[in-house]
Amino acid sequence: MYVVISTAPNWVSKAYTGKKLNVRPESAMYACCDASLDCACRMSSASTSTNQNIDKSQAVWKDGQTDGEKPVSRQEKKRSYILSMFPYPSGSLHMGHVRVYTISDVLARYKRMKGYNVLHPMGWDAFGLPAENAAIERGADPGVWTTQNISNMKEQLTGMGVCFDWRTEFMTCSPSFYKHTQKLFLMLHNCGLAYQAEATVNWDPIDKTVLANEQVDSDGKSWRSGAVVEKIQLKQWFFRITAFQDSLLRDLDALDKHDQWPERVLTQQRNWLGKSSGAKIKFGVCIEGSPWVQVTVFTTRPDTLFGVQYLALSIRHPIVQDLAHRLPKLRDFLSRAATLPPNSKEGFLLPGVQAINPIDIVAPDGVQVEKLPVYVAPYVLSGYGEGAVMGVPGHDSRDLSFWRQQNPSNIVYVVVDATHDPVSIRTVTSGSELPEALVHPGVLNERCGPYAGMKSDKGGKQIIADLQSRGQLASTADSWRLRDWLISRQRYWGTPIPVVHCQSCGAVPVPEDQLPVELPKLDDSVKGKKGNPLEQIESWVNTTCPTCRQPAKRDTDTMDTFVDSSWYFMRFPDPQNAKQPFSKEAAEAWLPVDTYIGGVEHAILHLLYARFIYKFLSSEGLLPQYQKRENFPVEPFTRLISQGMVHGKTFSEPATGRFLHPSEVDGAETANPMIKRSGLRPAITFEKMSKSKHNGVDPSVCIAKWGADATRAHILFSAPVSEILEWDEEKIVGIQRWFARVAKVVDMCYKGSSSNGCEKTDFGDLWVRCEKAPLTVEILNAPDHDLKNFSPRDLDILLLVASTVSSVNHTLEHNVYALNTIISDLIKLTNKLLEVSDVVIDQSLLLWATSALLRMLAPIAPTFSEECWATLQQDPKISVWCDHHWPGSNKFIFQTPFPSSPLTPEAQTLLQSQWKSVNCAVQVDGKLRFSMDIPPQFFHKGDKQGISKNRKEADVQMMQKDLAQLIVNSTEGRYWLREKNQWDKRKRFIVVNKPDGSKLVNVVFRK
Ligand SMILES: [Zn+2]
Repeated sequence: MYVVISTAPNWVSKAYTGKKLNVRPESAMYACCDASLDCACRMSSASTSTNQNIDKSQAVWKDGQTDGEKPVSRQEKKRSYILSMFPYPSGSLHMGHVRVYTISDVLARYKRMKGYNVLHPMGWDAFGLPAENAAIERGADPGVWTTQNISNMKEQLTGMGVCFDWRTEFMTCSPSFYKHTQKLFLMLHNCGLAYQAEATVNWDPIDKTVLANEQVDSDGKSWRSGAVVEKIQLKQWFFRITAFQDSLLRDLDALDKHDQWPERVLTQQRNWLGKSSGAKIKFGVCIEGSPWVQVTVFTTRPDTLFGVQYLALSIRHPIVQDLAHRLPKLRDFLSRAATLPPNSKEGFLLPGVQAINPIDIVAPDGVQVEKLPVYVAPYVLSGYGEGAVMGVPGHDSRDLSFWRQQNPSNIVYVVVDATHDPVSIRTVTSGSELPEALVHPGVLNERCGPYAGMKSDKGGKQIIADLQSRGQLASTADSWRLRDWLISRQRYWGTPIPVVHCQSCGAVPVPEDQLPVELPKLDDSVKGKKGNPLEQIESWVNTTCPTCRQPAKRDTDTMDTFVDSSWYFMRFPDPQNAKQPFSKEAAEAWLPVDTYIGGVEHAILHLLYARFIYKFLSSEGLLPQYQKRENFPVEPFTRLISQGMVHGKTFSEPATGRFLHPSEVDGAETANPMIKRSGLRPAITFEKMSKSKHNGVDPSVCIAKWGADATRAHILFSAPVSEILEWDEEKIVGIQRWFARVAKVVDMCYKGSSSNGCEKTDFGDLWVRCEKAPLTVEILNAPDHDLKNFSPRDLDILLLVASTVSSVNHTLEHNVYALNTIISDLIKLTNKLLEVSDVVIDQSLLLWATSALLRMLAPIAPTFSEECWATLQQDPKISVWCDHHWPGSNKFIFQTPFPSSPLTPEAQTLLQSQWKSVNCAVQVDGKLRFSMDIPPQFFHKGDKQGISKNRKEADVQMMQKDLAQLIVNSTEGRYWLREKNQWDKRKRFIVVNKPDGSKLVNVVFRK
């Protein structure tokens, strides 16, 4: 019995033979047993095959999983680790997933066909708030919810035809994984890199949890609950990422140098680290009734010190906290300030507090340095620098807008000008005089006394040096924007922090042999409750101290899920290791990840944390590949591909802007849709998919309708990888038509050229040989080279295949962002092969060209190309030929190598230079009817060099015959020469050389 495997809708079969394609069941079996990783391609036939067939494929797949070989057979082959960012198991795939997994699948299949040992794993980023909230709503265990979602999504991935190595699968919420996350915590703790400290945190009073800054919107409200977020002080766990800030910054240059990471990601990483060089400067502050104190500020512009007009302190600055005890108005302000956005220009002038600019000491007599007002300002970050800034309204935009809001009538000093003007002392009194701050360095002006005339850089340095020599009032310093990583979450569904709090011993790490600290099961009792369920489960919280055996309590915080994703990619090479996160051998064999693919929304935090943990583990000696390589950049992801989003087709009412549901639109999938109720044309835009815009696309529905392969090809073709993909389903028809043309090419190759009266020949091995050892210029120039008997048309095809193969290889290897061009390259090749469908070409060449087309198509459309391949193999001669050259390939296209060019680049250039097409006008009975471009070889008569060198005069006739064939088989030729005239009854066929190098052909029917 035959199994019907047909992703392709009916047209493919029609294009072939008019009946459904039959694929022998053993080929599917072979595929799964021998190259088990590729069996998923068989399963992508889900679109039109029956469930029974899917079950069959699945069963074979499961057998493959137990056939003993570990996924991590190492060293014996070149290896490639291709990873797409693992998903959160929300329950269903969205189009963004389909895009990223299509890209990684194409790269993984390509590398495998190139002979690499490929690791292309999949796992689940399974901890997180949605599971916990769902559980609290329904009173169910989040683990159950999560595993159900995973099984749904796995089925969808399988339907997409993605070939992940499921033997490496894990989820971060299983104890066998988070045991090692806890181990990582202990390692960091051991090195002093995990610590507890009081911190101001964003507190969501409804969800009763700490929020990351990114989870607070611009109005200061929680992204989930919508509550106004409060700032509170809480004891939290931190990872000391700042200990690695220098190498985190420095090594970005290495990624930049090799052009392996997108520029915008590198920029975002640099900005997040935010290193700035400048100086720390001490200001004297006098508080009425108290002794003088010093306040240190950090500035990147010491050259503007003469322009300081106020000091601003953060709301958490010790002076402010002190004063709050006696100033009720300040207390009011501080409680209000806790909810103000960080860019707020509000401030509180501290009464009775004044500051002295240290410049006073070095300023010459006669330069009056005023006492400065001191403000509390929420825009001053407590964590940045010293929690205090010097306000220079003339030269800092933020300071200027703060100053104008606080002192609308006050003057602004300008101390640095663009050029030196010996008499310039600028004092600005109105906004129109100084519409914006002069933020660029320049030349210090006369207001700066002895420093006037110095350039900013020199003047700043001199000021610092002078202040330093006068009582250490300044010093050069760097400042970083990067803060330590707050990893505590007051939630249940995360990795428990492996620490026990004991009254006598303090915070005691749980000994390694007691890991994992498992999460307790949740039951109905948590239903509808707020806050952290862990605090409420006393049987879990109460434990004994590992050190003194006295009663103690477990830490009830869990870790940020970014901790899980900071190291998961190191687990894939060794996913079953019970003792360690991974072995050194596995790490050495597979790390770093060669290609990492994911959305640009993870450009900052995830990548930064992963880079930090990777550097840390390397410093602990767990990554032996970096030992003895001093100053070598220790980076986890060699190449980063960040793909753009998928936007959905969005309909709205032109007048009101109201978003329309597709059911309100007639012909929503066609070029001319209409609003049903009004009969008007809707406005069509492409926007981020969301429920409110009714523009979401369910990948499962799409795949069921169009087939996985067409969906994959459409995704790749529709936009360059990094750009927004505007999902327009109506255009997928174009891909289907292309597949139909590919099927025709296969059909023509399979049937041979019997229609032209040629016998099928034995297929030679020239082209397969040339893929291994390409033809060189020397070979082409030799008197009796292999191409000497080739017709111009053959060479034309050879050149196109060669250039397509080179281009596709280059894109997959070096220019993944241009994956869309592969589809256009392959479409062009398909069309060319179809053009020659009813003329004589070398059968070996045609078979090889068709095989190259299918082999290049295989990573993109695995099922369809497999189906085409199976059709070819129905010819026993082809089957023997394939098996002879690539053992096993008569059953399975993924047993063939990805094509290499049969010509060296120089040979290709040589042939191409002899191949510039010539414009040829075609006259019929003396009247110009059309013109077309024709390869020059159709006109050559024994050139002095290159491939035509040995052509004998007798070939000229043959060439004219070829030329006539080419012309009559063109679309216009068919019309003018066959339909309007009787081609077979032509009287003459004359070729004329025109003076400008172009040609003219006159076909004469009438006398
Ligand atoms: Zn103790």
